[in-house]
Amino acid sequence: MSSKPKLALYWAASCGGCEIAVLDIKEKILDVDAFFDVVFWPVAVDFKVKDVEAMQDGEIDLCLFNGAVRTSDNEYMAELLRRKSKIMVAFGSCACEGCIPALSNTTTRAATLDWVFADSPSTVNPDRVMPQTATETPVGTIELPEFWETVRSLEQVTDVDYFVPGCPPQAHQIWAVLEAVIDIMENDKPLPPKGTVLGAGDKTCCDECPRERQEKKIKGFVRIHEVIPDPDQCLLDQGIVCMGPATRSGCGGLCVAAGVPCRGCYGPAPNSKDQGTKMVAALASVIDSDDPEEIDRILDGIVDPIGTFYRFSMAHATLGRVTIGAPDSSGNGGES
Ligand code: SF4
Ligand code: SF4
Repeated sequence: MSSKPKLALYWAASCGGCEIAVLDIKEKILDVDAFFDVVFWPVAVDFKVKDVEAMQDGEIDLCLFNGAVRTSDNEYMAELLRRKSKIMVAFGSCACEGCIPALSNTTTRAATLDWVFADSPSTVNPDRVMPQTATETPVGTIELPEFWETVRSLEQVTDVDYFVPGCPPQAHQIWAVLEAVIDIMENDKPLPPKGTVLGAGDKTCCDECPRERQEKKIKGFVRIHEVIPDPDQCLLDQGIVCMGPATRSGCGGLCVAAGVPCRGCYGPAPNSKDQGTKMVAALASVIDSDDPEEIDRILDGIVDPIGTFYRFSMAHATLGRVTIGAPDSSGNGGES
């Protein structure tokens, strides 16, 4: 049996980009393979859930869990991998704050299923057949996981040791995290305090943005495709909603350097629990009016405020989900 530390990677409710991002570390993946024994990585290697179930509790040294928790299967795997892992890492925006899957917390489970399986223009389903958790067939029962009412982040389901933000985390940051973990394990160094955000900065995206910000007052918002922005000036100063002031640093200002506004994928800025309200506060300080009607008109220029302010953090939004009757521990039961 290998004496190398054991590594698991898992993909729950997410697009899979975080899995690809791990491979973006290129030849460094060979160093990872040399140091770790990869014991579970369904996207790349054919291990089964029963292999994990058969392990001792705490047998896996490091688990990088990407994806939010949307289904009973996601929840089972989150709890199983937590039990089997010494270090559990919420890896990527979906696991950290819900990301795109959690935008469905703005609607209901029923509305989501209706749209996807019956009403969307690309679906033909006149009998409105919906997925069932158990379907009898001549060859046996086909089972599907429960689809929960509410999408949750990993820490809303189980205990998490560390957080690696990003949609996806940038390759240089992934390698920085893995290199640090290898150094800690190889040299018996102390772990960072539980709850530390790894692979990211401790400032905002604005702090690493190459554009000059003068905090100009704004009389109206425009969308990025409606203008040709000045390449050197802050996008927000030019009336383009940029989530930089409300977003943690770490990506190197990737999007803003390329000419498009930050969408907020590195999650809330340090010392801020709610990315959306932080951004609303930032906008309030730059709107150039005291007249309520004019302020309303200016704010009307922001298309899709929820999707803009909470695109990556809806599962943690303070004002996120209004429920009639509290959801149960699985996220089921509340009505929007
Ligand atoms: S608001 Fe956006 S464009 Fe402006 S400084 Fe911050 S990150 Fe850069
Ligand atoms: S600029 Fe914003 S959206 Fe783009 S990678 Fe960085 S944090 Fe993510």
